Amino acid sequence: MLSFEHQFATLPEPLWMACQPTPVNQPTLIVFNQRLAETLGMEVKPDDATLAQWFSGNQLPPGAESRALGYAGHQFGNFVPQLGDGRALLLGEVIDQHGIRRDVQLKGSGRTPFSRGGDGRSPLGPVLREYLVSEFMAAMGVPTTRALAAVSTGERVVRQLPEPGAVFTRVASSHLRVGTFQFAAVRRDEAALKALADHVIARHYPEAASADDPYLALLEAVVARQAALVARWMSLGFIHGVMNTDNCSIAGETIDYGPCAFMEQFDPQKVFSSIDQGKRYAFDNQPAIAQWNLARFAETLLPLMREEGDTVVEQATDAIRHFEYLFDVEQCRLHADKLGLAPESDQADPLMKALKSQMHQGRMDMTATFDALTHYASTSSELHKEALLALTTQPNELAAWLDQWQAAQLASQGSERLDAMRRANPVVIPRNHRIQEVIDAAYEGDFAPFHTLLAAVTQPFDESAEARRLAAPATENEQVLRTFCGT
Ligand code: AMP
Ligand code: MG
Repeated sequence: MLSFEHQFATLPEPLWMACQPTPVNQPTLIVFNQRLAETLGMEVKPDDATLAQWFSGNQLPPGAESRALGYAGHQFGNFVPQLGDGRALLLGEVIDQHGIRRDVQLKGSGRTPFSRGGDGRSPLGPVLREYLVSEFMAAMGVPTTRALAAVSTGERVVRQLPEPGAVFTRVASSHLRVGTFQFAAVRRDEAALKALADHVIARHYPEAASADDPYLALLEAVVARQAALVARWMSLGFIHGVMNTDNCSIAGETIDYGPCAFMEQFDPQKVFSSIDQGKRYAFDNQPAIAQWNLARFAETLLPLMREEGDTVVEQATDAIRHFEYLFDVEQCRLHADKLGLAPESDQADPLMKALKSQMHQGRMDMTATFDALTHYASTSSELHKEALLALTTQPNELAAWLDQWQAAQLASQGSERLDAMRRANPVVIPRNHRIQEVIDAAYEGDFAPFHTLLAAVTQPFDESAEARRLAAPATENEQVLRTFCGT
């Protein structure tokens, strides 16, 4: 049994509204994350029918109270003063086995006061995508919201075509976003803003409470978490796709897996999302966009900050500028890991820069490149070298790069370097065409491919034949070029 608490409900009401889920016809459990449930204190697993009732919203789990949260947000740079949970409901918070408070939220559970024109529902496809990608991120140790359950509804949701509906249950450190602060700020509701900021400090950044200016310390802490997060994304070729301020988590987790995808052939300007016409959220733009989002966060905190010597605007600006430094430090460490070099190696950055250019020019698959490089680093065998060179259209150039890399690697040898390299370079990632295959099969009622892919992406370093099959990059015919928000 989950033991729900409702601390967020002690905050003033514009930040949330009580709202009931809309029951669905025929809730059927697709998947339940028993291991995650155990970390949340659920010792005995209820039967599937009960889980389907609970996690469709047909009958809330004992102790749950459903609420829609308010938030605003900059969508593709344009400010929308009211967005909010239009198809999601917070069921409450659960203290996990580490003593950390986690939100449990239904997504796709029906209309709310924030639904605007939407139907409050989710098609099955995006639910399966979020399940797979968020659990992969968790397996890689990337901060992320988690997947607790997916339930099919037995109802159709109409998008371009009618699609089967589903409800997703998400677990997060919290669902508070930059947009939550914007929501309080745009209403000029300083009491709500302060209550929200104090809640966030107590919940996520308790060390900020004792700083000279807790709200400046809060800003600095969120900047640091986001810098570390986006550096992790970049190291895996992850493209979030819709980095609006309402999808930017205050706790520093990856949240809102809509049109997200992993890059295959390396291309700094890669975009998958069908709605990102201006390439605002292209792969290489992600750090600058995160920083831009954090500047919007800083603006909301100005009324709370204390003027001391420097103006609050100067202090906030310094905190935002610091993002670049924090991101570089984190990225440099990740580059060293991915290349199997010592953290202090001054070769990691130049070698990575050169390798990125090789991957781009040589049309190399990013994940396969680092996987092959890891094998070559482990064995130094000619066979593995050839496998690596076979990935590029410019083998002579790559061979020259390999010589430089090997010189740097010799200088920083050590088995712990190889371990770090293996942990940084997954074999299996949730590739777009595999996700699409899973969705197509599920739309025909076959969930076996979903379970197979889920097992593979949650053991991303597995070398089995099945893992290798799923790890293979898309062929020309299999490539998925566009992803959709799923809304
Ligand atoms: P997203 O693109 O999922 O981050 O959602 C952006 C905004 O649109 C949020 O306020 C969502 O709650 C809302 N929204 C997305 N899909 C729906 C839907 N089917 N029904 C109602 N609101 C939605
Ligand atoms: Mg969102």
